Amino acid sequence: MRRIGVLTSGGDAPGMNAAIRAIVRKAIYHGLEVLGFRRGFQGLMSGEYTLMRLGSVADIIHRGGTILLTARAPEFEKESGQQKALQVIANCGLDALLVIGGDGSFRGAAALEKLGVPTIGVPATIDNDIAFTDYTIGFNTAVNNVTDAINKVRDTATSHERVYVIEVMGRTSGYIALAAGLAGGAESILVPEIPFDLSAVVERLQRGVKRGKLHSIILVAEGAASAFSVAEIIKEKTKMDVRVTILGHVQRGGTPTAFDRILASRLGAEAVDLLRSGRHGRMLGFVDGKICSTPLEKALSAKRKFPADIYQLAAILAI
Ligand code: ATP
Repeated sequence: MRRIGVLTSGGDAPGMNAAIRAIVRKAIYHGLEVLGFRRGFQGLMSGEYTLMRLGSVADIIHRGGTILLTARAPEFEKESGQQKALQVIANCGLDALLVIGGDGSFRGAAALEKLGVPTIGVPATIDNDIAFTDYTIGFNTAVNNVTDAINKVRDTATSHERVYVIEVMGRTSGYIALAAGLAGGAESILVPEIPFDLSAVVERLQRGVKRGKLHSIILVAEGAASAFSVAEIIKEKTKMDVRVTILGHVQRGGTPTAFDRILASRLGAEAVDLLRSGRHGRMLGFVDGKICSTPLEKALSAKRKFPADIYQLAAILAI
C-alpha cells in the first residue's frame, strides 16, 4: 500500500479535523501518501483533492467543522456516481479510502468496498446513532454544547418562572437529548426511541409547581416531536408561561472537547493501522474503553439499543 484517500461526509461533527490530522500524520509516519478529497463523495466523484502534508493538518486539532469540507452527495448512491468515483480512484492510484462520517457515509464506504476498493469507516456524527461503538466523534462536544445552553436558559427560566421547551438535534435518534437532559437536569426528556405521553409531562410539571419549583426544562429531540406543538399543548393544559428555544446548529459548532479530540486521534490512527494490516471493509469503534473494529455490513444492519435504564434514571432524578 502506497497511497490512501480520506474524506469527511454527511453532517459535520466537531473532532473530524482531529481525525483527519491523526490519519494524515500516522500515514505519513509509516511512509504513505494521503490525498484529501473535498466535500465527501462529491469530491471523490469529481476528482477534487489535495495532497495532504504534515503541515496541511497543522493548527486544526482544536477547530470544529472539517477542513476537507463535507456534503450530502445523493448522486453517489447511484451506480453511475459510484462508477465516476471508481474512475477517479483508479486515476489517482489510490490503494484504499478512509471515510469519516455517519451511517449514510458508511453505506457509501460499503458500496465501494463491494466494488473492490478497500475502505475503512471512522464514526463521526453528533447523533451517536451507530451500532458497535459507544461513542461517535462529535457527540461529546454536542452534548456539552447543549448542556451549556440548558444552564443559560435555566437562568431566565428561573427568573421569570417559566417552562422552557428546548429542541435539540439528533435526526431520528435521541442520544443528545438523553445525555444533555441528564447532565442538565431536565424535568422531562422526549426521544423518538421511547413512547411518551404529554399528559404525564403536564402532571410532572404541575407536581413541580406545587412543591415550589420556579422553572422547568423539557428537552425534545427533533425526531420525537416539534417543540412548538409540545409547548402549545402544555400551555393549553397548564396555563403556564411556556417558551420554546430551538438550539439548531450552535450544537455542532465550536472547539471539540478533549474527549472528542482524543477519540478522533485514536480512531484515526487505528484506521491507518487496520489498513496496513490488510483488514478493511470495517468500521472502527470504541467499546468498553477499547478501540475495536466491526465489518461495515454487520454494523449497518444492526440497530443500536437505546439505553432505557439511563432514560429511566433521568426520569427518577427529575421527580
Ligand atoms: P450524519 O449522521 O451526520 O447525518 P451521515 O453519514 O449519516 O452523517 P448521510 O447524509 O446519510 O450522512 O450520508 C452522507 C453521504 O453518504 C450521502 O450524501 C451519500 O453521498 C452517501 N450515501 C448515503 N447512503 C448511501 C448509500 N446507500 N449508498 C451509497 N452512498 C450513500
